Amino acid sequence: MERFDVVVVGAGPAGALAARAAAEAGATTLLLDHRPELGHPVQCGEFVPAAGELRDLFGCGELIDRAYDIPESTVLRSTRTMACVSPFGHVFRFPLAGCTVSRRAFDKALAFRAEGAGAELRFPVGVTGVHDDVVETAGGARFGAKVVVGADGPISTVGRSVGFAPRRELFRMITATVDGPLDDQIDIFFGHVAPGGYAWRFPRAHDANVGLGLATVPPGRSLGGLLATFLREQGLGAARAPTSWWVPLGPPPASLVRGRALFAGDAANLVMATNGGGIPTAMLSGWLAGTAAARHVRSGAPLADYDRAWREALYLPLERASRIQRWSERFARPDLLLALGMRYIGVSGLDAMMRLRWPPRLGRNS
Ligand SMILES: Cc1cc2nc3c(=O)[nH]c(=O)nc-3n(C[C@H](O)[C@H](O)[C@H](O)COP(=O)(O)OP(=O)(O)OC[C@H]3O[C@@H](n4cnc5c(N)ncnc54)[C@H](O)[C@@H]3O)c2cc1C
Repeated sequence: MERFDVVVVGAGPAGALAARAAAEAGATTLLLDHRPELGHPVQCGEFVPAAGELRDLFGCGELIDRAYDIPESTVLRSTRTMACVSPFGHVFRFPLAGCTVSRRAFDKALAFRAEGAGAELRFPVGVTGVHDDVVETAGGARFGAKVVVGADGPISTVGRSVGFAPRRELFRMITATVDGPLDDQIDIFFGHVAPGGYAWRFPRAHDANVGLGLATVPPGRSLGGLLATFLREQGLGAARAPTSWWVPLGPPPASLVRGRALFAGDAANLVMATNGGGIPTAMLSGWLAGTAAARHVRSGAPLADYDRAWREALYLPLERASRIQRWSERFARPDLLLALGMRYIGVSGLDAMMRLRWPPRLGRNS
């Protein structure tokens, strides 16, 4: 059996950053993924906010500078504006700096950076379970690990193996591409197009990423049917290559450490509940997990240091986003109430809500 200091399961943004941090800190590191092609199929809206927007939300500037490095070659389009569209078509526009990336290229680029830092990258290798210090795979290979990082997404095999089951709601998501229109704006649509959730249209280089997500698909409807209705209503063409997947929403767990396993990204439930965005938190938590894992094997630092680090950087904004999402759910249906609510809080309220500053009575980071 091959032995490594750190075995990272899942080469998405969380796992790639965990493996890179662990390898850079001198730990022998193995990064495994069960996909034959990293980043494919794309199950993502592919939008990431600019680092400045993240600093505004989370603080933790040093961590963002170190870990939130979007590979330039994967950027499809820079965006400057977000538009929230009410159920009856009223548009609320505010500035939001970011870009769309090709997830197909993005996941590969991050994983190759980890490899460049010294991590060993192997795929397709499906992990079937983790038992104490042994990581078992579908092909029968077993790897010894002093620390395991569970970065294997919302349906985490590592989580199931070690009894890590955070409180969460799995949102159903579908995404596809369509022809333009192409500008520097990301559009989010609320109301009947995705009851209790939202639909989106994000510009890419030569086409647009469209999709929607919601907690429960209404009886008699399907995700594909909802997407087709949304595209028809918006006058957008037919969906190409639709894929569906899950986003875990809920408050951040109290601890992301179970024995010798650390969890990061979607496997750890670290998604911004107000918008379903999880790439930035995956990268930041992955980096912190990899750093803590390496310190543990190299100098005996307790793995609980990871809990201290991610909680300091991420906990309060994520927890507040979860409370805002639960609070705003009450106004999400019917369309008329939602439209009135959006008009009432207006563009400044919607902007402030995305920045976790509204409603004030829910407290800022408290
Ligand atoms: C439709 C949709 C749209 C989204 N849009 C956005 C968006 O626009 N912006 C944004 O920030 N976030 C978005 N998200 C959320 C974002 O995609 C996730 O939060 C992010 O990918 C989390 O990264 P991760 O590394 O934790 O997990 P993942 O990206 O899911 O990576 C997990 C990796 O683990 C691998 N894996 C899983 N199980 C095993 C196993 N047993 N053995 C080996 N490997 C395994 C998988 O192949 C995968 O590569 C969206 C999600 C969905 C579903």
